[in-house]
Amino acid sequence: MKKVNFFIILMLSSFLNAQVFDVETIKYSGDDNNRINLVILSEGYQESELADFISDAEKFTSTMFAEAPFSNYTNYFNVYAVKVPSNESGADRPSTNTYVDTYFNATHEAFGKPYLLYYEVDGYSTNNTEAKILSVLADNTPNYDVGLILVNSPDYGGSGGSFPMAYNGYWGNNVIMHEIGHSLFDLKDEYYPGDELASEAINMTKETNTNSVKWKNWLNTNSVGIYQYTCDTGNCADWYKPHQNCIMEKIDKGFCSVCKEGMVARIHELISPIDSYLPSASNIEALNFPIDFSLSLIKPNPNTLESNWTLNSNVFANNLDEVSINETDLVEGENTLITAITDNTSLIRIDDYETINIHTVTWSINYSTLGIETISSENNLSIKMYPNPTKNTINFSFENGNNSNLKIEIISLDGKRIKTLSLKNFETESVNISKLNAGVYLANFYSDNALLSTKKLIKQ
Ligand SMILES: [Zn+2]
Repeated sequence: MKKVNFFIILMLSSFLNAQVFDVETIKYSGDDNNRINLVILSEGYQESELADFISDAEKFTSTMFAEAPFSNYTNYFNVYAVKVPSNESGADRPSTNTYVDTYFNATHEAFGKPYLLYYEVDGYSTNNTEAKILSVLADNTPNYDVGLILVNSPDYGGSGGSFPMAYNGYWGNNVIMHEIGHSLFDLKDEYYPGDELASEAINMTKETNTNSVKWKNWLNTNSVGIYQYTCDTGNCADWYKPHQNCIMEKIDKGFCSVCKEGMVARIHELISPIDSYLPSASNIEALNFPIDFSLSLIKPNPNTLESNWTLNSNVFANNLDEVSINETDLVEGENTLITAITDNTSLIRIDDYETINIHTVTWSINYSTLGIETISSENNLSIKMYPNPTKNTINFSFENGNNSNLKIEIISLDGKRIKTLSLKNFETESVNISKLNAGVYLANFYSDNALLSTKKLIKQ
């Protein structure tokens, strides 16, 4: 589900030498593959100042995760700090002819703008700093989703773009939150950003109709309205914003309700609330009644996730992380257990959100009087093998959310391959095994060459 900057990393790593630095974990919520990983790089800190950098990174992290909606979704984020030493402290400032030798060449007054703190264009170096940043991220924290640069300078400044950057002084933490609003959540400035940056976005629109404006469900709540942008030059009169006191405009404020809503929706787009579940495809052997099915969820704070369990389309349980199924709960033949997770947070008022953002796990249980034959589980993946035991024919069927094919191998207990077949999504295939000797065989299921599971196939 997560996008990763993998291909860029591969390309860059091939022509830049690896630069490996100490990485400290500032905040760990769980597996990097199912979290948004923020990585903070130091800039303008000398080797002897790197302990200060870690304390600045910790301060930034605690400020950010005290602020909604980060405070509500804190368990969805990991934060790492990469200790990149510079030869000298601080950042360049052309107006005072101050030029310091720092790793990413940060400069105040970039492009002549007083509060723009940026890398790349500093009059000091023509290095390709963006490639350097990507290379440091790739070599040290390849699972990063957002790379941030914290600059060891007391002078106010910051910038957005691919790598948000901010000074480490009093408002630096808020500057970074504002910049993350741009780079991770695609929020617009709620001061007029100029004609070239004006466009339809979560918090910017040309629509003024109260029934169709994208934040219509928030109107007249928490000071949300339809406010015209103002500016000295440009076409700002065409554009409207939802609030007058949002951090996307004023650095000392929090995110407005419309920005928060867009951020939570984006977090759900990136990260499944289902961290893991049992039984999974890899440990489905030897199950006895009652069978426990459980979820490990990434819970918001307070927990607003709801789970609905259905067994054969009947409500089985609600809002439980674990259910037990007894033999008497099942019907003979095919049974389907589904759990559906939705977020009922009051931060979201998007129409029908619970049907747009829904995560499910499906287990297929083939029950006969001989006991459980198959249980398969995967997000939106179902594999069935039936009947089992069988004398003449074994059927395989396959449904999958991501359209990959399923490869099935039937092998004997001494490792001999009897039959290989490939199934497309929604396909069922029958295999004649009438000529095989009676006994136990194994069926191995592969997707993209990865073994999903192994099941016993009994030939009568
Ligand atoms: Zn806002």
